[in-house]
Amino acid sequence: MPHKFKVYIQNDNEYFEYGTEDYPLRKEFLFGETLINFLYFDITEFEDIYMELGEKLKSLRTEKKPDYYGSLLAELGKMAEKHIYLELTYGVWADRLEEALEKEFNNVEGLLPENELIKLPYKVSLLQKQIKELFARVLDIDSGREPMGKKLAAYYNAHTAEPSDIFQFKKLQICFEPVRHEDFAEVLYPNDIYDIIGFFVKELIRREQRLRVCKNCGKYFVLRGRSNVEYCDRLIDGSEKSCRDMGAINIWNRKKNDDEVFKLYRREYKRRFGWIRAGKISPDEFYKWSEIAREQKTRCDNGEISLDEFNAWLKK
Ligand SMILES: [Zn+2]
Repeated sequence: MPHKFKVYIQNDNEYFEYGTEDYPLRKEFLFGETLINFLYFDITEFEDIYMELGEKLKSLRTEKKPDYYGSLLAELGKMAEKHIYLELTYGVWADRLEEALEKEFNNVEGLLPENELIKLPYKVSLLQKQIKELFARVLDIDSGREPMGKKLAAYYNAHTAEPSDIFQFKKLQICFEPVRHEDFAEVLYPNDIYDIIGFFVKELIRREQRLRVCKNCGKYFVLRGRSNVEYCDRLIDGSEKSCRDMGAINIWNRKKNDDEVFKLYRREYKRRFGWIRAGKISPDEFYKWSEIAREQKTRCDNGEISLDEFNAWLKK
């Protein structure tokens, strides 16, 4: 039973339909979510697994050991659980293996290209690097306000990067067809992971969808509402708090600190202002002091000196 794989976007969601006719599967994500998660999926951890899969394929071909068949599929299935794009790899290889099994593993060199699996972690790492670079130049809200198409063209025309570092858009197999019995959408029939990535990047750019690097975890996130959001809503490892919760605490602390700095400054300012009337200091002396005091306050606001140090300076 051949595996299918379709991807489409409807409103703010992306849909994956895969599996076989007897066992169809569908998963739904927020638009942009799978691509961004893919960027931070550490596939190099699994290099050994892919190397072993390659070895098993070679054995299947040369020794025709059908007992490897099941374990290969099981391993590919386990990898597919780690990221939805790897479901495509699973489906493609499941079909190839079934065809090879029907041929009793005779003359299947072209059918089972084991290098494709062995090199997959390397290819994924390269793609991650390419997409991060493209995001930084084109989709990052802090990369400039020009339309994304313009920035993209400038990036591709500049030739400043090594060609191998630039993501290459390929021809895609897209059909306009009914989806979920309720609408029509452009449906992608991908041949490999490249196609899925190209499809989503194209749509992000078409929608002028801005992204930002989270101030806490350093990963990209989709700006879905206000453009001044600085933290993503990923959960921090080993905690129930998200980066956004963390950011709110940081901002609150900063604000509380700022208020405290201002209070200390204000109190000392008033006290010394009173000295002028009492004839203890001249207005000139006071303004000279207040100028330096403001500089010290700015240093304290910027965290160059602590609140205690600032306070000690004021009391001098
Ligand atoms: Zn974050």
